[in-house]
Amino acid sequence: MTVIQTARGPIAASALGRVLVHEHVFSNDLEYTLNYRPDFVEDQQIVEAARRLDAVKACGIDTIMDLTVLGLGRNVPSIVEVAKLTQVNIIVATGCYTIDDVPRPLAQVGPGLMFDRPDPLPDMFVRDIEEGIYGTQVKAAILKCAIDMPGLRPGVERVMRAVGNAHVRTGAPITVHTAARQEMGLVAQRVLKEEGVDLRDVIIGHCGDTTDIDYLMRLADEGSILAMDRFGMNTLLPLEKRVATIVELVGRGYVDRLTLSHDCFCWSDFFPSEEDRVRYFPEHSYCYIPQTAVPALLEAGITQDEVDTMQIVNPRRHFEDAARRFAGRARSSAAAAVEA
Ligand SMILES: [Zn+2]
Repeated sequence: MTVIQTARGPIAASALGRVLVHEHVFSNDLEYTLNYRPDFVEDQQIVEAARRLDAVKACGIDTIMDLTVLGLGRNVPSIVEVAKLTQVNIIVATGCYTIDDVPRPLAQVGPGLMFDRPDPLPDMFVRDIEEGIYGTQVKAAILKCAIDMPGLRPGVERVMRAVGNAHVRTGAPITVHTAARQEMGLVAQRVLKEEGVDLRDVIIGHCGDTTDIDYLMRLADEGSILAMDRFGMNTLLPLEKRVATIVELVGRGYVDRLTLSHDCFCWSDFFPSEEDRVRYFPEHSYCYIPQTAVPALLEAGITQDEVDTMQIVNPRRHFEDAARRFAGRARSSAAAAVEA
């Protein structure tokens, strides 16, 4: 039985249920928020987050993967409080979100830098997965890194290779934030593969932002799972195009490589105010997939079985297969050590 770590502790993979693979609870620059966003009152936001997640549960969603890592304001003690108040399982992540440089406190620590020593990033990520996240009992179950329009900047590559290293050591699956229209998923696959990552253990994030079927098939043919994960952000790409892309991929036999999500937040300082959020993304909510996107997929000819594959089977298999492959690699390296 594969055990999955959540903000409420370990659960069986079979208990994941219906999963949103790329969401956030809170995402902010904590220093900015503490100094300039008096509208963020943590206790109130915790209650509000639990209320929104309960609404998701009422729509049939059982688990969210919270991909808020270093660089996005990860604050796991607050997630623990949210998890106490809602029935939704919250899986937390480790890794780092940057599209250019590593966070400032790490910029001069590492090989050849002012504080010349091994890169601390891989050990930080491994500790989050194996021992738990500072100040909590919670262990991370996913690794996350990012690459966006600026491409493989030195800081992006450093984080990506550290995530690959931590994956090889722990078996934790990886999600990569990518810029789909710049085909950055292919760059991420190349770098992660060089680090020894089995690309079947990787979810390529934000694939839903493109309609380029050839690009998406190239990613999927390497074994990776595609996250069609910005449902409700219709100003980026309208629902009809997101649905048509999934219909095309399912028609070509890729249903076992697809997952669904929103990339939603309960609170984010990305938006100067709640009014701005509603103005730019009026339909973006955790309930958009169950209430709007799934009915549109069914209407377009996707079956309920195929929806279940994308929402239930694929996320569960993602964790189970990663754990099984990791155990297999550990067994064969132990056997090789005995032979040598
Ligand atoms: Zn995200």
